[in-house]
Amino acid sequence: MDEFSLISRYFRRSGSSAALGIGDDCGIVSVSPGTQLAVTTDTLVSGVHFFENTDAELIGWKSLAVNVSDLAAMGAAPRYFTLALTLPSPSESFLEAFSRGMFALADQCGIEILGGDTTSGPLSITITAMGELPRGKGILRSKAAAGDDIWVSGDLGGAAHAVGLIRRGLEPPADCLEKLHRPQPRVALGLLLTDTANSMLDVSDGLLADLGHILEASGKGAQLELDAIPLTGSLGRLDRNEALLCALTGGDDYELCFSAPRKKREQVKKIADLAQTPVSRIGTITGEPGIEANLNGQSYRLPARRGYNHFEEAWSLRPGTQ
Ligand code: ADP
Ligand code: MG
Repeated sequence: MDEFSLISRYFRRSGSSAALGIGDDCGIVSVSPGTQLAVTTDTLVSGVHFFENTDAELIGWKSLAVNVSDLAAMGAAPRYFTLALTLPSPSESFLEAFSRGMFALADQCGIEILGGDTTSGPLSITITAMGELPRGKGILRSKAAAGDDIWVSGDLGGAAHAVGLIRRGLEPPADCLEKLHRPQPRVALGLLLTDTANSMLDVSDGLLADLGHILEASGKGAQLELDAIPLTGSLGRLDRNEALLCALTGGDDYELCFSAPRKKREQVKKIADLAQTPVSRIGTITGEPGIEANLNGQSYRLPARRGYNHFEEAWSLRPGTQ
């Protein structure tokens, strides 16, 4: 199969709302009046971001989900994406499953494909996603204020726990596998938080690392209540410290972490109900730099390693590197 029939068979879809879709040198989109375009890119590399034997449908889902999660974290409405796909061979079974998983998430989130590029080489997927924001209303990392509540959506730690088990040749519990393979970008929650959250990001590298980005950008610190951190269900069976380590430093959660003024506490709960997304209040933004934490009313020593960093020898999908 050549490149062009591959694109038209697996990636061109009818009914695009773009001014110009796949087939020319560029796609063209119209932006609604009074809005700005939020643009983000993420690459997933085989053996680094997913195990080499991962089901192609799940790779398709997750490649788009991690990008849509970034749009959600700005409070943007997903609109269009491009797909740069590098494939070792034009395997029809791979392409069929990959495109099925990717478009299942696309249809769920209301985002459409606008174009892409197809090359041969080691499997790697780069998606650029675009979303619309009301002008000037993007929810930045830099606007956390001292006294803000810190909130997180959904639950944390399951994906990291699943990775740890798979690396040891063990079968992870279903809820943790679901977190790893089928993350749910919190689009509705992100959109509704536009006039409520002061700062926001999505948790991709580990809660401590990501919260650290908000604190650094805002010049603030945080006090965390570890009892309030929502853990993926099966982590309840683990030793408490091990479960907390997954939630605090594990990464791959794709939940939203945001800060909002204390006086908007009830509003946040209403928004969470509307978005049908659970949220937990896990701490407070402080004026002093650094993260302090309590567990059971006692001060808790946080782990030194705070999350995933590609260029530090640390967490990796490859066995034997930790
Ligand atoms: P060019 O030579 O101008 O870069 P290409 O031959 O790479 O064009 O692509 C032809 C058309 O197919 C373009 O509209 C491009 O956006 C689209 N396209 C290429 N690869 C993909 C893909 N993996 N998914 C979606 N669209 C793609
Ligand atoms: Mg090209």
